[in-house]
Amino acid sequence: MLGPVILAASRSDRMRRLISAAPVTKQVVDRFIPGETVDEVVPIIEELTGRGLELTMDVVGEDITTPEQAAAARDAYLQLIDRLKDLELGTEAEMSVKLSMFGQALENGHELALANVRPVVEAAAAIGTTVTLDAEDHTTLDSMFAVHEELRKDFPQTGCVIQAYLFRTEEDARRLAASGSRVRIVKGAYKEPASVAYQQKAEIDKAYVRVMRTLMEGEGYPMIGSHDPRLISIAQELARRAGRKLDEYEFQMLYGIRSDEHLRLAAEGHRMRVYTAYGTDWYGYFMRRLAEKPANLRFFVRSMVSK
Ligand code: FAD
Repeated sequence: MLGPVILAASRSDRMRRLISAAPVTKQVVDRFIPGETVDEVVPIIEELTGRGLELTMDVVGEDITTPEQAAAARDAYLQLIDRLKDLELGTEAEMSVKLSMFGQALENGHELALANVRPVVEAAAAIGTTVTLDAEDHTTLDSMFAVHEELRKDFPQTGCVIQAYLFRTEEDARRLAASGSRVRIVKGAYKEPASVAYQQKAEIDKAYVRVMRTLMEGEGYPMIGSHDPRLISIAQELARRAGRKLDEYEFQMLYGIRSDEHLRLAAEGHRMRVYTAYGTDWYGYFMRRLAEKPANLRFFVRSMVSK
């Protein structure tokens, strides 16, 4: 019951101001967002890749309101890629981007987001790595898929994300699997109405399995974004049945969540990519992590009252 309330708060400016200003928030935030600057996050990148994990890097931020903020988001990714160049990690460290941070919701937002994300994809390709377009709320997805298709003409390795909770996703999965795309499947983290999305966990999980089957049997590269142990073992079985080798799909999990499982899967020989977010505009990302697990919220509230 708490999840939808927290997701509604994740879009509230008043809550953003209140929570961001609370002195203890930072300690709890650090669990999920291990730095605010590139300098702070480079040692984390080195540590995780040193342990056999791969990364997808997210500069946190979304729902910006001016073209200048969108340009700043682009520049933040370019700065990150410049630092990754020295680390020579290739596809071991790729980027995840949210088009809303690149201006998608502004006037001429589709064109603006494409113009801002293209240099990031080009810079990533120049250091031998890739970019994945995150999926945001359902109203943004037609534009995201159109940007993805456009980018893939020059950079076929550009990935995108699909969300099992949306009714549209099975059809999107079939199209993307047939086109040979890199695709991350996730359950979905936004508050979506019953007119477009499954609301029950069991229904979402069943849809997730159907979509995984489509991706595993298709021509593309499936990226299984989940911490759910049941779905992870079903993914392994579907990959085996589809005749995929261990390097023909990968698992992805979020930094700070089930970290032992990251290492276990990597030790088994799986490609295991950790979605690592950093930056100062962490509010929306942080609130979605609270919404996913009530225990996180209890921990957060306890640390506030015990101060
Ligand atoms: P759940 O059933 O939610 O969780 C399974 C178990 O994992 C839980 O029982 C718990 O032990 C653990 N767990 C899950 N979440 C948490 C948490 N926050 N804190 C502590 N423990 C937790 N969503 C989008 O809408 N768009 C995206 O682009 C997107 N990208 C993602 C990228 C990656 C790599 C991952 C892993 C998730 C992404 N998500 C994205 C979020 C996703 O939609 C889910 O909200 C999130 O992954 C929780 O679902 P789950 O599959 O882990 O299953």
